[in-house]
Amino acid sequence: MEEKAESSPARTGMRVKMKALSLWLVTCTAVSGALPIHPEKHNEEGAKLVQNYLNKFYDIEPDPNQLGWRINAESTAKKLQKMQQFFGLKVTEKLDNETLEIMKKPRCGVPDVGLYGFTLPGWKKNKLTYRIVNYTPDMSKEDVDKAVEKAFKVWSAVTPLIFTRIHKGIADIMIAFGTKVHGHCPRYFDGPLGVLAHAFPPGTGLGGDVHFDEDEDWTTGSAGFNLFLVAAHEFGHALGLSHSNDQSALMFPNYAYISTSEFPLSPDDISGIQSIYGPPTNASDKRPATPTSPKICGSQISFDAITTLRQEVIFLKGRHLWRVYPDNSEAERELISAFWPNLPPGIEAAYENTKDQILLFKGNKFWVISGYQVLLGYPKNINTLGFPKGVKKVDAAACNKNTGKTDFFIGDKYWRFDENSQSMEKGYPRLTVDEFPGISQRVDAVFQQKGLFYFFHGSKQWEFDPIAKKVIREMKSNSWINC
Ligand SMILES: [Zn+2]
Ligand SMILES: [Zn+2]
Repeated sequence: MEEKAESSPARTGMRVKMKALSLWLVTCTAVSGALPIHPEKHNEEGAKLVQNYLNKFYDIEPDPNQLGWRINAESTAKKLQKMQQFFGLKVTEKLDNETLEIMKKPRCGVPDVGLYGFTLPGWKKNKLTYRIVNYTPDMSKEDVDKAVEKAFKVWSAVTPLIFTRIHKGIADIMIAFGTKVHGHCPRYFDGPLGVLAHAFPPGTGLGGDVHFDEDEDWTTGSAGFNLFLVAAHEFGHALGLSHSNDQSALMFPNYAYISTSEFPLSPDDISGIQSIYGPPTNASDKRPATPTSPKICGSQISFDAITTLRQEVIFLKGRHLWRVYPDNSEAERELISAFWPNLPPGIEAAYENTKDQILLFKGNKFWVISGYQVLLGYPKNINTLGFPKGVKKVDAAACNKNTGKTDFFIGDKYWRFDENSQSMEKGYPRLTVDEFPGISQRVDAVFQQKGLFYFFHGSKQWEFDPIAKKVIREMKSNSWINC
């Protein structure tokens, strides 16, 4: 899918303009001014175009309770509203000429809403393979190879990703040209113009695959559709990006030609891809690919935040998190952004509440996560939990599942929050050391497991029994990790 910002018709190739013009004549002769959508009253073809467009690109929405889609049962007017919002048009919920104009632009086949409305978790590895399964007759094979290679370089330049071409077998990213119903693909192409290409988010099977509509005229220049530009956009999807409503972004859904000597990524594209994979790794910072980095085994390791997640314990530091399973002492290291896209690095506090949700804190903001999904409406300000205005951040937090109370540690004091009534208890803050004798320093991180609290400060850790009200033992901060 590729399409790029199409801010003015002049940015599209001449041939496209002519085709678009003929399409315009077909669809708009009877459509003028702002119209409510009543197919019986207006040009049937125009109404069909609108319905097709909304069905293709605005018909699904994420189901916050699970990793999936549900059909968006909203009315046509509501979908039209979303479309107009996405493209920054005047929101009329009616089919006006400006809206119709946008709907006729050549574009990517990936929807603008739904699961794709979010940045998806990326590949869990940095070394990816691609294979060019077949070629378009529009260009020489050599030019196709070059366009594809150059399109991957766009993304590898700003990430630690490495792309390797293979000629046989199954690659992570399988690239193919097809028309209408093609291969085993669940999505169809629509002939010339309209949808130019589509791609699937990271995963097995079709995941990561990219298909180009062979009914388009693929080129190396500004005429027809520039394969390099469309491929670079589609590869963004194959790496986990969704559409951007920033017209200058490569991930904007509509096609627009820009000189291929220009680097096509906007700051929006770069921050999107780096929120998944991080910035490029420079030569002096080559980390081993082993799951446990040696650093976490150093004697001085401290943590930003720690939380349980069902059976696991998650240790957070900087851009990374380590997952420790009870029966597997090998810690798995991941990028925080690969696990929970859109979350910033440097999380300061984290805890699991009584509803299997995780709350993550940074500065005066917090996020609630259920499974892999950041719940809608977050981040929120921590004052919404009942902290007074003067409280700007939380150092550490842990929920005692037995009592349903969560303690927030800030400096040498703590606050107590009731998970059932979702309110801060009266009479706080209190000195931490009064309730937790032996814990006299600022708490970096804390979690509760099997009725015991584990407090962290610097490279040390204290196991605390809340019933006996005393520290049972002192350990190194990385004792949970098999070093
Ligand atoms: Zn797209
Ligand atoms: Zn396809």
